[in-house]
Amino acid sequence: MTTARIDNLRSTVRGAIVQPGDAGYDTARKVYNAMIDKHPALIIRCADVADVIAAVNYARDEGMLVAIRGGGHNGGGLGTCEGGLVIDLSAMKGVRVDPAGRTVRVAPGSVWAEVDHATHPFGLAVPTGFISSTGVGGLTLGGGIGYLTREYGLTIDNLLSADVVLADGTLVTASEDSHPDLFWALRGGGGNFGVVTSFEFRLQPGGTMYAGPTFWPLEQSVEVMKAYRDYILDAPKSINGFFAFLTIPPSPMFPEALHMKKVCGVMWACTGPAAEAEAETRAVRPDGTPLLDHQAETPMPVLNSLFDGLYPPGLQWYWRADFVDELSDEAIERHAKHGAALPTMHSTMHLYPTNGAAHRIARGDTAFSYRDANWIEVIVGVDPDPANGTAITTWCKDYFDALHPYSAGGAYVNFMMDEGQARVEAAFRENYGRLTLVKSQYDPANLFRVNQNIHPAAAGV
Ligand SMILES: Cc1cc2nc3c(=O)[nH]c(=O)nc-3n(C[C@H](O)[C@H](O)[C@H](O)COP(=O)(O)OP(=O)(O)OC[C@H]3O[C@@H](n4cnc5c(N)ncnc54)[C@H](O)[C@@H]3O)c2cc1C
Repeated sequence: MTTARIDNLRSTVRGAIVQPGDAGYDTARKVYNAMIDKHPALIIRCADVADVIAAVNYARDEGMLVAIRGGGHNGGGLGTCEGGLVIDLSAMKGVRVDPAGRTVRVAPGSVWAEVDHATHPFGLAVPTGFISSTGVGGLTLGGGIGYLTREYGLTIDNLLSADVVLADGTLVTASEDSHPDLFWALRGGGGNFGVVTSFEFRLQPGGTMYAGPTFWPLEQSVEVMKAYRDYILDAPKSINGFFAFLTIPPSPMFPEALHMKKVCGVMWACTGPAAEAEAETRAVRPDGTPLLDHQAETPMPVLNSLFDGLYPPGLQWYWRADFVDELSDEAIERHAKHGAALPTMHSTMHLYPTNGAAHRIARGDTAFSYRDANWIEVIVGVDPDPANGTAITTWCKDYFDALHPYSAGGAYVNFMMDEGQARVEAAFRENYGRLTLVKSQYDPANLFRVNQNIHPAAAGV
């Protein structure tokens, strides 16, 4: 990486190029998870597709390790790398809604808050996640699980096309009709195949949801979890609700008497009329009075950003996740034990339902293969203080190890740390073989390997 070549690069790209020693380097290298502390050699803040092409060509020709950054939220820190080049897309923002056609086109640096804001006036939404500061790029390419999953499927089930800069610097559009193998692989295969510079989504009705939590004392967690399990497996698709162990934060949103109390609960989010949602969710009322029970009509941008303030960038994160087919009584007992031991206020366990619409798609129809799982269980250790890094990591790993024998076996690429190649392959099950073939077609030299990596078939994997 000579000065002359960098100068040449600077004259080629419109966006900023940041190197060690530059003012702003330490800010530019940061990602959401403060546990990640990497020092890239070069950060290119791309302004447009031409910059992305220049960045890809430069990384390839210089033999540099290359990371792609969208929203920077990846828990394992895959939006950056040590000593390599970061293709930072965060300045490439833009959301164009076509209300008549019910589609939306999104630039790759956008976060979900920006998409929610743009689609809400039309009473439409992209089925996305549970926190609106997350990047559109990473969440979509890994699958995308959120409040609308039971009714409208994963985020990838609503992806219509993607423009992709490939490892050789060419730009293609992937859809059902154009590069269909690439389109198949992008839907769950993460950033393995190129840099997506534009996403086109189908919009779904989703202006407001009847949403809010019901909290119970921890002592009731076994009976609440059983009631929740029995209910959600056959609940109408309009009812979404994830189970959680959490500590109620000291926020004016909650009664003071409950501040810092560890509880279990369900966060409801329902698309149907309020009365229907009320009648339905009454089914999950074990004996006794909940500590708090409050649902209300909630605009989607508000619902999606409810937790944003609680989880700002810069916290320490360590998480592990598994798909779950069955929640046995024995597994519930283990959940109750580890859930009661939340190590810090921000730490939590969420059990997101993935049954419903996501099951309508066969497990070989997209790279995302866990179409038959009923939940994703994510155990999240979080704290602002680096001194608590060991405590949150140990709690998370112990909890995960205790429940893993009851899981469906594979991982969700969006909720992974650095967990080894076997775990990556387990995430894709029988789709992994086909993914290696697509990888060898579109990225034979594995230029894009800072991700949950799919090895090109030609490499003999
Ligand atoms: C607070 C929080 C809440 C979350 N909530 C949810 C949720 O509700 N549902 C859910 O499914 N997931 C959720 N996630 C997980 C999230 O989907 C992943 O962490 C995802 O990787 C974040 O995407 P990003 O663009 O912000 O990440 P980045 O760190 O910017 O990117 C992560 C990886 O994605 C790939 N990538 C990103 N953009 C592109 C692109 N344009 N082209 C090619 N590759 C790209 C790259 O491989 C990159 O290494 C959450 C994460 C956090 C931290």
